[in-house]
Amino acid sequence: MNKIAVVGAGISGLSMANYLEKHTIDYHIYERRRKEDLAGHGFLIPHEGMDYLSQIIDRSQLLENGSFLKKYIQYSHTGKILAEKELDHVFAISRHSLINLLTQNISPEKISYEETVTPCDKEKGRLKKSDGTYIDADIAIISDGSKSRIRRDLFKDEKMRQVRENEVVNIIHNKEIADSIENDFMKFHHEEGGLTFGILKLSHDTILWYSQFDNEKYNIGEYTTEDLRSYMLEIFTEWDPLVTSILNKSTYENIHLWCVYELENLNPFYKDNIVFIGDAAHPLIPFTSQGVTSALKDSAALTKHLVNEKITTEAFSKYEAERKPEVEIHIHNGRTLLNQFLLPLNQQSPNILPISYK
Ligand SMILES: Cc1cc2nc3c(=O)[nH]c(=O)nc-3n(C[C@H](O)[C@H](O)[C@H](O)COP(=O)(O)OP(=O)(O)OC[C@H]3O[C@@H](n4cnc5c(N)ncnc54)[C@H](O)[C@@H]3O)c2cc1C
Repeated sequence: MNKIAVVGAGISGLSMANYLEKHTIDYHIYERRRKEDLAGHGFLIPHEGMDYLSQIIDRSQLLENGSFLKKYIQYSHTGKILAEKELDHVFAISRHSLINLLTQNISPEKISYEETVTPCDKEKGRLKKSDGTYIDADIAIISDGSKSRIRRDLFKDEKMRQVRENEVVNIIHNKEIADSIENDFMKFHHEEGGLTFGILKLSHDTILWYSQFDNEKYNIGEYTTEDLRSYMLEIFTEWDPLVTSILNKSTYENIHLWCVYELENLNPFYKDNIVFIGDAAHPLIPFTSQGVTSALKDSAALTKHLVNEKITTEAFSKYEAERKPEVEIHIHNGRTLLNQFLLPLNQQSPNILPISYK
């Protein structure tokens, strides 16, 4: 097998490494951040994603680090139940825990942290490290996230646009709040549309809460931690007491504002010896809850074709043919969910689960 470089140690890069390990294929990962900084917030992972994760992580360890959600409960912002739906094995886990689980099977010498990889101006298709030396690899698997610099360099005509939705996300460690809520996925919706508050229990003492808002209607402006805290406390004052009490009892050191981007049209998933996986190949908006599952499926499919095909471009072409049609369905579903979110509540389809299924 050829020498493989993986760029980015997020969920895509690490899951790719786990599949390569399973097939005893050698590789090296380059990650621009420090190991301690790879935290983030959390994920909803549908059933299928758990099946893929169980191929590379011991299932009992997964279950120890997150929790299955029982029901999706949709509320109005004042707390009236609008719809309830049993969830079919939807799992919630913090990004920090999932990254740790995916890293444990990779020997430390196979990952270089604080190593930013950039495209080489002089020689197209070659990649270089922070010190200017070339990456020595026959195949480069790019998993550097939705704003992939390497992708933008290769496909200069691509159009990225900001989605009409931002998210404020926070993780809090508070056993009292965690004990007060069931393992349900609760989501409160403003009657006028374009504003929600969601609550997920990630473990016995950890809660993830998030607000999705229409960025044409709500403008946070400058956003320090204190700005985000004040914004949340102000906007949600009149909401259901559960929402306001969680906001009042929360600490805010983990709060973050996410601006969401999408590609107007997908690029090819590969060019020459460079292949893209996860958000670098296909940014998916958070409404789909399919980012992690898609990253896992990309890694599994790419590994399978690299193992089965002698010619690398054949493997890449089969990988793209297998994955692109499904990703396009999620992009379409994500746009539908976004449009619903922007509508007043009485015009939204009832019981819409914020997960895209193919
Ligand atoms: C607010 C929000 C909520 C979400 N909720 C969910 C959810 O509930 N369920 C779900 O499945 N998905 C969700 N997603 C999507 C999910 O986070 C991603 O799809 C998933 O994490 C896959 O990411 P990735 O590994 O492809 O990219 P990333 O997580 O972005 O990782 C890319 C990595 O590459 C590194 N990197 C970047 N550039 C370079 C470089 N030049 N050189 C070296 N390293 C580099 C970065 O530091 C990073 O570690 C959500 C996303 C957002 C923004």
